[in-house]
Amino acid sequence: MLRLTGATAIVIDATTEASGELLLDGAQVAVAGADGATSRDMSGVTSLDVSGCVITPGLVNAHHHLLQSAFRTLPGTRGVPMAEWLPAMAGAYARVGIDPELVAISTRIGVAEGLLSGVTTVADHMLNWAGAPLVESVRIAISIAEAARSLGGRLVFVRGSARDDPEMAASSAEAIVNNLLPGARGGVSDDKMLQLAVGPAGVHSDSRETFELLGEVAARHGLRRRTQANEQVDVAIALEKYGRRPLDLLEDWGWLADDVTIAHLVAVTDDEIRRLAAAGVTGTHAPGCDVPMGWGIAAVAALRDAGIVLGLGTSGGGSNDAGHLLADARLAMQVSALVGPQLSAREVLAMATAGSAAGLGRAELGHLRAGAAADVCVWDVSGVADAGVADPVAGLLWAAPGRRPRHVLVGGEFVVRDYELVHAEEGELVARLNERLARTRVV
Ligand SMILES: [Zn+2]
Repeated sequence: MLRLTGATAIVIDATTEASGELLLDGAQVAVAGADGATSRDMSGVTSLDVSGCVITPGLVNAHHHLLQSAFRTLPGTRGVPMAEWLPAMAGAYARVGIDPELVAISTRIGVAEGLLSGVTTVADHMLNWAGAPLVESVRIAISIAEAARSLGGRLVFVRGSARDDPEMAASSAEAIVNNLLPGARGGVSDDKMLQLAVGPAGVHSDSRETFELLGEVAARHGLRRRTQANEQVDVAIALEKYGRRPLDLLEDWGWLADDVTIAHLVAVTDDEIRRLAAAGVTGTHAPGCDVPMGWGIAAVAALRDAGIVLGLGTSGGGSNDAGHLLADARLAMQVSALVGPQLSAREVLAMATAGSAAGLGRAELGHLRAGAAADVCVWDVSGVADAGVADPVAGLLWAAPGRRPRHVLVGGEFVVRDYELVHAEEGELVARLNERLARTRVV
C-alpha cells in the first residue's frame, strides 16, 4: 500500500474533492480524504509526503496521433488550410518511411512527453499505414504497443485508416486484435494497459465500405469505434463528393451510436447536436490542434448542454506540436467564452479525465473513487507561479502554463518521480529519434 499524505487538495471526481491523504492499494485506489487511513492497519504501508501539492486523477488524452511526434513544425504545415497541410504531412512521412522502428521511437517520444505532463492514458489514432502489407501492419501495431508499455503508460491503439483499401484495413485490424489481444472480448488486455479500437480518419478520406468493414471488426470483438468529423476539409469534401454533411454520412453508415467517439466536432449545427446526443455519441474536443491551425472552435458548452459527453485530446504533433493535455485544457477553458458561456477549470479538468475515459468505455479511469485505477498525478503548487492563487484546483489550469506534475503513477506504480521518467532517460529517447531522422532528412 502507498499513502500520499498532506495534499493541499485531492480531486476525486468532477463533483468531489478532499484534502489530506490518498491511500492506494496496489493498482487501485483504496480511499481518498483526510481521515481515510485512520481506521486501517498501517503496517507495510509506504508513505510519501506530498504537502504543497494537488492530486488529480491521471489525465486521459482521448485523441493523439503519436507518429506525428516525429514531424513537428515542418515547413509548409503552419498557417495553411487543411487541404495543404495533409499533403505536406504525407510528403514528410513518405520521405522518412513509416516502419516498425520509426513508430516505436515516435511512440516512445509521445508517450514519454505525455507521462511527463500527466497523461497516464493516451489514445493513439494511427492513420498512416503507407500501404503496409498485413504482416508489416501487425508488426507496426506490436511496436507501438511495446513502446508504450516500456514506459509504463496506458495505450489505446486505434487501428485507423486514411484512404486505405477497405478490405486490407479490416483484415489488418482483425489480425492486430488476434495477435495483440487473442481472445480478449471487449478489446482491453487483462492488465488493462492496452486497449484496441478501430477508426477511419473521416468521411473525407474513407468510404462507406471502410466504415462498415472496420465496424464489423469492432462488433465482432467488442471494440470501441472512433473517428473524426467536421474539421474544415471534412465538411468541404463531404459536400463536394456526396452533397451532404459529414454527420449525415456517418448516420447513414451506422456510425452515430453510443460506442462511437468523434474527435474535433467543430461547426456543428443545432440539429446535428441534437442527433449526436440522441444517438449517444461521445466527442473529443481538440482545441490545441483546431485553434492554432485556424480550423475552428468546437462549441463545447452547447454540446455538453445537449447531454453529449466530451473528452479532451491533443491531436498530433503535426498540428499541435505538443502532447501536453493540461495545457490544452487551459486553452479549452480560455477560448470557450468565444463560442458560448465560459467553461470552469473543474469542468475542463473533468473532460480531460472522466470525459475522455467515458468515450473509451473505461469506467475505472479518470477518477479517484475507491476501486478506481491508481492512475495519479501529483502537482506541486508551492512555487512562485502558484503563489497568491486562491483556489489551487482552478489554479492548475489558470496559473502556470505548461506545468508538469512532480510525480505520476499508473496502476499504483511510479512512472514519473520528481519530474523524471522512471523507465527511460529523456535524452536517450531524443537521441534515438534524432538518429533515425538523420538517416532520412525530413527537410
Ligand atoms: Zn486528429
